[in-house]
Amino acid sequence: MAKDEIIRNKKQKETGSKAFNEGRRNFLKGSLTVGAAGLLAGFTGGIPRMAQATTTSESVAAPNCKKFSFDTPPAPIAASQIKTKKSVDVAVLGAGLAGLCAAYAAADKGAKVVLLEKRKTFTFHGGWNASVDDRLHKAQKIIIPKDKIMAEVMRFSAYQSNARLIKLYLDECGRVMDKILDMADAADIKYYVDTDNKSYWPYTEFPTAIQFLPGWNFTLCGMLEKYVKAKGVEILYETPAVQLIRKNNKGKVTGLVAKGSDGYIQVNTAKGVILCTGGYVNNREMFEKYSPRCLKIAGDGYPEGSNTGDGILMGMWVGGIKQETDCPMLWDGFTAIPGGFRNRVVNLARQPFLYVNLLGERYANEDAPFGYTANQDIAQPGAWKWTVWDANWDKDKDKMHGTVCEKMVKTPLWNNKAYDHFKGKGVIVEADTLEALADKMQVPRAAFVATVKRYNELVQKGVDEDFGKDPAKLTAIVKPPFGACKTGAGLLVTMDGLRINTDLQVLDAESKPIDGLYAAGNASGDFFCNDYPITTTGISHGRAYTFGWLAGEKVAALKG
Ligand SMILES: Cc1cc2nc3c(=O)[nH]c(=O)nc-3n(C[C@H](O)[C@H](O)[C@H](O)COP(=O)(O)OP(=O)(O)OC[C@H]3O[C@@H](n4cnc5c(N)ncnc54)[C@H](O)[C@@H]3O)c2cc1C
Repeated sequence: MAKDEIIRNKKQKETGSKAFNEGRRNFLKGSLTVGAAGLLAGFTGGIPRMAQATTTSESVAAPNCKKFSFDTPPAPIAASQIKTKKSVDVAVLGAGLAGLCAAYAAADKGAKVVLLEKRKTFTFHGGWNASVDDRLHKAQKIIIPKDKIMAEVMRFSAYQSNARLIKLYLDECGRVMDKILDMADAADIKYYVDTDNKSYWPYTEFPTAIQFLPGWNFTLCGMLEKYVKAKGVEILYETPAVQLIRKNNKGKVTGLVAKGSDGYIQVNTAKGVILCTGGYVNNREMFEKYSPRCLKIAGDGYPEGSNTGDGILMGMWVGGIKQETDCPMLWDGFTAIPGGFRNRVVNLARQPFLYVNLLGERYANEDAPFGYTANQDIAQPGAWKWTVWDANWDKDKDKMHGTVCEKMVKTPLWNNKAYDHFKGKGVIVEADTLEALADKMQVPRAAFVATVKRYNELVQKGVDEDFGKDPAKLTAIVKPPFGACKTGAGLLVTMDGLRINTDLQVLDAESKPIDGLYAAGNASGDFFCNDYPITTTGISHGRAYTFGWLAGEKVAALKG
């Protein structure tokens, strides 16, 4: 890279981070910055390290002409800098769900495999793993029509997904899930299908998800890691891959360079490299270029900090291309509190009580899948909302039942102790009159009181004439003390990765496969676009385990 280009990039970086910090300061002005001890039993792995990513709309727009640091591929690491070399059939990058499955499946087919991971350990999240036609669903006579899932994924993506990839998933996920269930049986791990789904006119949730007990995907990924080791796969933790090797960006990808504790390692691959490095949740510069709406989030759900889009960038540096439309998995219910994921998510505020924006106005049907809710939230002034309830919240909450993890409200994950905790921290505010509550919320009194009056009218009528919310979720705000909590959208993952074909090969700008280069999970693309189809519960994990597994099998089957 030319010297002046390095200086220009450096300046741009500095300007970007200054704007970001100023935006954050503005946003946090008048909001709460208290620390909080963990109360909610979380569902995320790793050590909490929440990015304080809150911005004003001014700092969101990225100039079209902006050149990003990753636009210029780095110079190849010189041979003289390589400390160690190794040769394998298959290298898998990233030990998340996709990577663990890829490594196992490739080794199971007899390939010599190395699995490289940036972190100290494997990565897991959540617990819903979508499958259809597996033996567990069949045994319970839960038949999910594949055409409905196809239609749902395509609808969420506004028909921008590659339908052949969705067909591949639907055709193969049951077979792969059966293998995983066999592994779980042998390891004495219990599992079940989550059938606690809901349906109302804006959406229907499908009983696709299987959960593993007791620790959800900590259990699943922990189990897979043991099986991967037992298959003789070499796992190199704390060894991030930094570059792929493709001579003159033509022909086959023949390996990669990674950074170990003792220096650079070159891994030569006879068959292929499988990119399973996840998305770019932790890369703000990539938000600016590929998903500017992510600049409005109140925080991210990838506390590991390791999802910096490495595989996507490495793939592009050797000629691969990324899908055009973004697909962040947005979430609702993030407070402004600094600290870990668990401290920042107020599950009561995720329930479809009354939502008002900073102008004190109601703006949408609160009872939508949470990605939709989050899209509405970031469209409001300042990208914040207040959830408002009255003294009956403890009874009313049981009527709510959101999609997927919003259901947490029914479990001990939300109770009076949690309420008091967040109240004590000032995250939940309470007042005996609506006017006093408006003052605490810092929203205009008259507008807020009028909004509550209108909402109570709708409750009385039993029909939401304004936004069409399920009447069962219309609960009056009449009994003091009144309560409210301010939250914004969170970002769980990004799912717009490198374009692939149905052999899981990364495609170039002419849609031709790059020999020796594969991608699965969130490093791969064209499956989800626009918005995550949360109604096909657990399909992000579904894609990760299925495509990881298939990629491992396909690469191992190559002649080499
Ligand atoms: C809190 C939370 C809950 C969720 N719950 C659910 C759910 O219940 N159901 C569902 O379907 N989805 C859920 N998701 C989304 C889902 O977890 C992810 O989409 C999925 O795990 C992606 O798997 P992956 O293997 O592609 O990526 P990841 O799990 O992100 O794994 C990528 C791995 O690659 C490593 N890596 C990155 N760069 C490098 C490099 N240069 N070299 C080597 N290694 C590298 C990373 O450290 C990481 O270990 C949730 C997400 C979050 C944040």
